[in-house]
Amino acid sequence: MQEKFYKEALSAKIFEYITKATEELQLESYVIGGFVRDYILQRTNKKDIDVVTVGSGIELAQKVAELLPTKPKVQVFKTYGTAMLRYDDLEIEFVGARKESYSEESRNPQVEEGTLQDDQNRRDFTINALALSLNKNSFGKLLDPFNGIKDLENKIIKTPLNPDITYSDDPLRMMRAIRFASQLGFKIEDKSLTAITKNVNRIDIITKERIVVELNKILESKKPSIGFLLLEKTGLLKKLIPELTDLKGVEEIEGQKHKDNFYHTLEVVDNISVNTDDLWLRWSALLHDIGKAPTKRFNKNIGWTFHSHEFVGSKMVYKLFKRLKMPLNNKMKFVQKMVLLSSRPIILASEVTDSAVRRLIFDAGDDIDSLMTLCEADITTKNPKKFKRYHKNFELVRIKIKEVEERDRIRNFQPPVSGEEIMKTFNLKPCREIGILKEAIKEAILNGKIPNEYEASYEFMLKKASELGLKTA
Ligand code: ATP
Repeated sequence: MQEKFYKEALSAKIFEYITKATEELQLESYVIGGFVRDYILQRTNKKDIDVVTVGSGIELAQKVAELLPTKPKVQVFKTYGTAMLRYDDLEIEFVGARKESYSEESRNPQVEEGTLQDDQNRRDFTINALALSLNKNSFGKLLDPFNGIKDLENKIIKTPLNPDITYSDDPLRMMRAIRFASQLGFKIEDKSLTAITKNVNRIDIITKERIVVELNKILESKKPSIGFLLLEKTGLLKKLIPELTDLKGVEEIEGQKHKDNFYHTLEVVDNISVNTDDLWLRWSALLHDIGKAPTKRFNKNIGWTFHSHEFVGSKMVYKLFKRLKMPLNNKMKFVQKMVLLSSRPIILASEVTDSAVRRLIFDAGDDIDSLMTLCEADITTKNPKKFKRYHKNFELVRIKIKEVEERDRIRNFQPPVSGEEIMKTFNLKPCREIGILKEAIKEAILNGKIPNEYEASYEFMLKKASELGLKTA
């Protein structure tokens, strides 16, 4: 039964060719790591396969390519001693089994040839050290020296060797442990958590780009709070995104408290993850309240306030992206925009007027749906009556947005009277008055004074222009 189960993991045609190549070169080879782990967990869409061979991974890859009918190109990475080829929709990476030893200042180890066992020893977690034989006489046999199968069953993340050394050697593994815990819903073994907490400062030798890859994977998991709570607990979050840990805690003055904005934020991220896979909308949820720490004040009459936290927060997004070496592109601008507008629909939910809706559509443009998704996720009240009422109000806002948009077409607003036409009408060269007229027309439309139409806008422009003392040409 077990044997059949593992053989089925290797039913793709490619494995036959690898076995044949292994035989011809008289090597030993195994499929190892994530592919085996995900197969056992029945996470079935893994497209990258790692093959380890006791010998040269590059030679094996070249032999496999030669045998394959498609004769795929082999990409060789000489420095790493690895090679990659594509077959069907699979990406297969070949590496020679190796033994590693590390130095203090780098996560790049000294490498020498080794056995399969040496190679399994260098793997980060027991659940990532599982190997299936691709050798003819033991095809499909599971090699599991650290009882990774048991850890998969018990949903435990644990290192094959001493965790303190494992994490110190390559501190990226701390991020990977937390990322796998978040992706798979696993628990990190206590000894490992202690070791991560102890080695937290070692994260400094890891490049920001690699850290962000793991942060993104945590954010993309089903329940990102699992990962962020672990990052917080181990001290990594304070080093990586202190803007978030600054939101922790509840202060009380004269019996007035505010909510803990860190735990609230994590709830919002989990909520939004039910409704969207969009990584940048999830980042927006994660950062939507970061302006609250620097803007927090206590006012005797009204209690706790966070004035302009959306504006301050959106400025902080830029600094945070820059520090983490994340791309400062349209994605960042989107996150900034979401943070900046994050409270707008909530204000609307208490009083929905047409002109407020028009302004919201004007400011949010095509991102209005994303903004509504964010704001609905922001409802974390534990009071069931309020919860229901807020959601109902948002439904009304959504209906209103649709209605207003159908009538007024504010999304991607284009001025009904162009600057050129204004210049022509009044025989003007480029000047301040043109901007004033355009702004006045836009305001009149958003306020509902005139419809978003050419005729009405033209009339309005003539009236406004005469107030400015302009004469038609
Ligand atoms: P995923 O594709 O979901 O990220 P994966 O396990 O395939 O999962 P990879 O980063 O592709 O992740 O790594 C492949 C394998 O290489 C892992 O399963 C693990 O055995 C090993 N590995 C990767 N990174 C490390 C590391 N930093 N330290 C030790 N072993 C590692």
